[in-house]
Amino acid sequence: MTVLLHIEGLGKRFGGFVALDGIELEVQDGERLGLIGPNGSGKSTLVNCICGTLQNEQGSVRFAGEKLDGLLAHERTRRGLARSFQLPRPFASLSLAENLRIPILYAVSARGAGALAGAAIDARCRDLLGEVGLAEKADRLPRDLTQIEMRKLELARAMAAEPKLLIADEAMAGLSHTEVDEIIALLIRLNGQGVTVIMIEHIMRAVMEFSQRLAVLVAGKKIADGAPKDVVRDAEVVRAYLGE
Ligand code: ADP
Ligand code: MG
Repeated sequence: MTVLLHIEGLGKRFGGFVALDGIELEVQDGERLGLIGPNGSGKSTLVNCICGTLQNEQGSVRFAGEKLDGLLAHERTRRGLARSFQLPRPFASLSLAENLRIPILYAVSARGAGALAGAAIDARCRDLLGEVGLAEKADRLPRDLTQIEMRKLELARAMAAEPKLLIADEAMAGLSHTEVDEIIALLIRLNGQGVTVIMIEHIMRAVMEFSQRLAVLVAGKKIADGAPKDVVRDAEVVRAYLGE
C-alpha cells in the first residue's frame, strides 16, 4: 500500500486557543477513513489545514509524495484534494450543470489538457449529475433542491475536479435513515472508482458501515486510530465521545 496523505506534528492555533495539537495521521491510497470526535474537537479545522483553507503553524502535510505546506487551497485542489463543506456552498445563481462546469473547467485547465470541447464538458456535467442522481435537475437552481439533493450537489462539485482524495465533512447531518444510506452508498461507490475518502460524521451507524479505519479527535488531539471495532470499544473513546 502507498501512503497518499501523511500528516506530521500538525498544530493550529486561533489566538491563544490550541485547536489542533501534534496531529499524526496517515491515509493509504484507496482507503476509506472515518474521522469522529465531539463538536469543537478540531475535525473541520484539520480538513481546512489539509485543503489549504487554513494554514497550520506547526507540522506538515504531505500529499502524493509532495509537501503541501504554504500552498493555497486552489493549488491543493489542482494536486487532487477535494472536500465538501459542512454547510453546502453552491453558486446560488447558477444552474446545477453550471455549478459543475466551473470545477470541471478548472480541473481541465489545471491539468493543462488543452481545450476540452464544449460537448465533452456537457457530457461530464451530465455524468456527474447522473452519478449522484440529479440528472433530471441539471437546469434547476440550487434553491430548488431538497436537503439531500443539496448534499449530493456538494459532493458532485467536489468530485468534478477528479480528486485523488475526497473529504466529506458531515455530509449526512439532518438526513433521514434512507437518505443516509444513499450517501454512504455514493461514497463507497466513489471509493470503488479509486478515490480515497475521509468521512467526518456523527452518525455512528454510517461511520461503522463506511469506515475501514477510524480515527478519533478530542480537544485537538488524536486519541485513537485503528480498526473501527477496536476503536469504538476503546475506554478513552467511550469516555470522551461515544459515552455522551
Ligand atoms: P469540529 O469540526 O470538530 O466540530 P472545528 O474544527 O470546527 O471543530 O472547531 C474546533 C475549535 O476551533 C472550536 O472550538 C472552534 O470554535 C474553533 N475554531 C474553528 N475555526 C475557527 C476560526 N476560524 N477562528 C477561531 N476559532 C475557530
Ligand atoms: Mg466540523
